Amino acid sequence: MSLSTSAPAEPAGVVEAPAISIRGLRKTFGDVVAVDDVDLDIANGEFFSMLGPSGSGKTTVLRMIAGFERPTAGRIQLDGVDVTAAAPFERDVHTVFQDYALFPHMSVVDNVAYGLRVRGERTKARRERALQALETVRLAHVAGRRPSQLSGGQRQRVALARAIVLEPKVLLLDEPLGALDLKLREQMQVELKQLQRELGITFVFVTHDQEEALTLSDRIAVFDAGRIQQLGTPREIYEQPSSAYVAGFVGTTNLLDSATSQWILGVAGEHAVRPERLRLSPATDTEPAGTGEVRVEATVVETIYLGTGSRVHLRTDGGTELIALEQSTGFDTGEDRGDTVTVRFARADVVSLSSGS
Ligand code: ADP
Ligand code: MG
Repeated sequence: MSLSTSAPAEPAGVVEAPAISIRGLRKTFGDVVAVDDVDLDIANGEFFSMLGPSGSGKTTVLRMIAGFERPTAGRIQLDGVDVTAAAPFERDVHTVFQDYALFPHMSVVDNVAYGLRVRGERTKARRERALQALETVRLAHVAGRRPSQLSGGQRQRVALARAIVLEPKVLLLDEPLGALDLKLREQMQVELKQLQRELGITFVFVTHDQEEALTLSDRIAVFDAGRIQQLGTPREIYEQPSSAYVAGFVGTTNLLDSATSQWILGVAGEHAVRPERLRLSPATDTEPAGTGEVRVEATVVETIYLGTGSRVHLRTDGGTELIALEQSTGFDTGEDRGDTVTVRFARADVVSLSSGS
């Protein structure tokens, strides 16, 4: 294509500003460094998760985005506008807290309409919009009840409705499913994902639950000690963990230290391989390792039945502990404690954790 002399409507290469842009973000409380030099861009409409153990700085980052906390250093932009010094109400974001923070003396619909009332919207209009938001979370039928008359999952959905009724560009969710039992949590995960897709709102989701982060997110930032250890898609985080920390925190993994790697793989440096990549066969399988395959003999320490499969704990002659995850095939593969088995896995499934490789 040749260059046109007439100016295009928009210059080529113009990129939409990220919904959230964070540079050099730092927060200290006395001697505690809660957030330590975080850089982050979150795209419009993205379902973004911050995953990490308790105390790793996730909530503090969220509170700085919302404006409840002032950064010690660094800048925050929303939609290309610097809001580092802006008050919470000047930011087009809304937070859903873990404890929901509903008003117990107000009806569900009044709870949802509350933010609109603060904005000065008229009674009739705000009631209509609140009912609409309740319909989105499938709770219009309990609009007249008090929060105490709802189940945990319903209260959680009211908290969501109260946030989405304000139509924020960004929704911040701090462990919103933490108070729910497993079954309800899984159900709410599906609903959250559908809601986010429907509304097209940018979600920043905080969780310490790796499975939740993997299933919901477009991208994940794995936090440790106030820093982002790895940033990537769920697949990248799981398949190509950048460090032993990430490999260990996100799912179960077999970590091979340098000496073990040298022995089993024939190369030095730290490596990891996921339990579901290990294949077991009886010790009678004496076939040597194929091309691109690793073969090692091990003794079964314990087999744990999981329903969907079995988790087999193994120890090699060299004393390395390995875990293999076997899908249930309907057959009993029959590894018993003390059995010797042959373990095989593909070299392609081994991740190098050594920096610079
Ligand atoms: P997370 O949400 O990942 O569990 P937080 O962001 O809540 O982590 O906390 C990060 C660190 O900062 C922790 O060590 C926590 O104790 C500390 N911290 C958070 N808020 C405060 C505060 N208001 N005063 C003092 N220390 C705080
Ligand atoms: Mg927290």
